[in-house]
Amino acid sequence: MSRLELRKVVKHYRGSDEMVRAVDDVSLRVAPGELVALYGPSGAGKSTLLLLAAAIERPDAGDVRFDGRSLAALSPGELALHQRRNVGFVTQDPHLLPGVPAVENAALKLLADRVSLREARRHAGVWLDRVGLGHRLGHEPARLSGGERQRVAIARALVNEPALVLADEPTGNLDSRAGGEVLALLASVCRERGAGALLVTHDPQAADVADRVLVLRDGRVGARDAGSADAPSAAADAQAAAAATARSALP
Ligand code: ADP
Repeated sequence: MSRLELRKVVKHYRGSDEMVRAVDDVSLRVAPGELVALYGPSGAGKSTLLLLAAAIERPDAGDVRFDGRSLAALSPGELALHQRRNVGFVTQDPHLLPGVPAVENAALKLLADRVSLREARRHAGVWLDRVGLGHRLGHEPARLSGGERQRVAIARALVNEPALVLADEPTGNLDSRAGGEVLALLASVCRERGAGALLVTHDPQAADVADRVLVLRDGRVGARDAGSADAPSAAADAQAAAAATARSALP
């Protein structure tokens, strides 16, 4: 059974003079323990795809499934519980609560699930330690660097060990070394705990840790196995472009 399955999913948006097919008949699966990297140019529909996978947006057609169950069948209350319990969502902008220490920002989902403050802080401390912030537990967001704030957001997403991790450019604000560490952490979380992960990224390092690489163009998905020689040209193009961008950004 797949952790995440999209079956012929379509999402339209109304543009100024025409409909934009942001996601256009996409089918994909993410298995337990599998990390899938999703590359693609800006405007290809990557963020929309993640919002659909997280059940934040509803598809206009097709079906989104978690552990074999269609999300369309869930009531609003069940959907909110699913999002909090089963999905770890990492956005590019960390959206931390200002004035709240890192450890409590990271503990939010546990506190929402009525775990005691002491226990929630202990768990969050473990995850902050895993993202390299064990020495910053009491720091408020204003006293953290951009990269540190992003790592708090990653700890916040993983703190209750969700079965599905969805990440939109999780390494976008990190230097290449910290980015590599975060990717390795996400991969190890998937493999150790059987979580599935779908990772929207431009980071060429993601292809190294991913089990599969998908490429989205104009709302449509193409695929290849990471490391296989028979890459369709779209996948090869995207990875080559991402690698070239990363190389040109190096000092
Ligand atoms: P990506 O994440 O790959 O850059 P997006 O999913 O953000 O792509 O966007 C895909 C397409 O859908 C783009 O043409 C974008 O302008 C359009 N789009 C995304 N969100 C909305 C929205 N809320 N309203 C209208 N158009 C949108």
